[in-house]
Amino acid sequence: MTPSNDVFESLEQELAWQRELYMDLHRNPELSMAEHRTAGIIEQKLSGFGYQVQRIGGTGVVGVLENGAGATVLARADTDALPVSEATGLEYASRVTVEAPGSGTTGVMHACGHDMHVASLLGAAKLLADRRDAWSGTYVALFQPGEETAEGAQAMVDDGLAAKVPHPDVALAQHVMPAEAGMIGTTAGPILSAGDSLRIIVYGRGAHGSMPHTAVDSVVLAASIVMRLQTVVSRETQPGEFAVVTVGASNAGTKSNIIPDRAELLLNLRTYSPAVRRRVIASIKRIVQGECAAAGSPREPDFEFYDQFPLTSNDADATERVTAALAEHFGPEQVYVADPATASEDFSRIPAAFGVPYTYWTVGSVPAETYRKAVENGTVAEDIPANHSPFFAPAIDPTLSVATRTQAVAALAYLGQ
Ligand code: ZN
Ligand code: ZN
Repeated sequence: MTPSNDVFESLEQELAWQRELYMDLHRNPELSMAEHRTAGIIEQKLSGFGYQVQRIGGTGVVGVLENGAGATVLARADTDALPVSEATGLEYASRVTVEAPGSGTTGVMHACGHDMHVASLLGAAKLLADRRDAWSGTYVALFQPGEETAEGAQAMVDDGLAAKVPHPDVALAQHVMPAEAGMIGTTAGPILSAGDSLRIIVYGRGAHGSMPHTAVDSVVLAASIVMRLQTVVSRETQPGEFAVVTVGASNAGTKSNIIPDRAELLLNLRTYSPAVRRRVIASIKRIVQGECAAAGSPREPDFEFYDQFPLTSNDADATERVTAALAEHFGPEQVYVADPATASEDFSRIPAAFGVPYTYWTVGSVPAETYRKAVENGTVAEDIPANHSPFFAPAIDPTLSVATRTQAVAALAYLGQ
């Protein structure tokens, strides 16, 4: 038996407390940047395992385990939940609610599986702490708050992350997905898109609805912008290049007989290439400014970016090294090349703060039989609840075991003897 396999001897035993912990976190979800209970539990666990623990960025927690000479590996899990009212009917379903300003009471749910990320990274941290004879180097287990709002990684970086923890050689992260449980997806290059939200205000001249000749109609202006924006991807982006431009909200006016003096458009952009992103943004600005000029708008439009997620693009060498280790541990049939997803993440801000390579992979969480049946019937989109759905319910077994092993195996690819 190789030393790296030795590390997993006690896995079954660890999984007992990990399952309990997972269900406890699932029952007690906390919204982005308010993960106080969760952070407390993580601190307590890591300290118990023998890690040096510190709080970074409010509810961020980092545990460091120094174990002699060798590489330093940083592994990250995100910890926050979503304002979603759980509808899974699970015995351990969340009944937590919060008062959301303006929109009344809403449920809170771990609808993105971050509870699984926490339970599995803590499991890997324990396995490595218990078998220090099987590896050498430094292991940094990082628990990041506020992924869903793209705030948490930046909060940790702004709080001095790079100066407070040992400089890693590589950073690792994973995400549970609505794919077949046990299957692990890796890929070099882009795996998640850059995401930008953009608020645009265009200005008209308000008037009575019966006197359009005295107005610059901001509703008509916004409508022509929405139509023209459809050409950014269809006519200006090279076929085969990836870009999404969605107008998710268009707000103007209050009453049928008032022509409003302004309109607001909320856009969501997704891209894999910085060059494409720059071009898409330039095209949007050109179109909006051009339509405003054509309408006789009395004032330049306003552009405000918010909720911005960086591109997640995996380092080729790190991905190759981790993929080889995963294929050796799980068998090559359990590891496949993942297609890039259109979702976004803020994880890459952490390796960026250190200037180090990273790799990010996916772990399936749907019972194999259920998933295969849906694939056979061509009903994956309807039958398999995806992340952020109120029905999202990863199968604890084998997902927790696989996600624990992936973190430990990937770390040992750098730390193993
Ligand atoms: Zn999410
Ligand atoms: Zn997520």
